[in-house]
Amino acid sequence: MEKERNNINVNDIYMMKKSHPCGGNLWTVIKTGVDIKLKCNTCNRIIVLTRFDFLKKFKKKVSE
Ligand SMILES: [Zn+2]
Repeated sequence: MEKERNNINVNDIYMMKKSHPCGGNLWTVIKTGVDIKLKCNTCNRIIVLTRFDFLKKFKKKVSE
């Protein structure tokens, strides 16, 4: 289970617990590592979260 949670890959799409101010809550992973870079699927804004924060904030993986 823990292994599964840490399996974050580029192009995976995640739903976050809190939606973005633009109204969307689906994000595409564009870079992984210590930090996770995500692009909002609705407004194309890019954010960077630490892996730790990311694991706390996402709700579920939508597709990979
Ligand atoms: Zn957005």
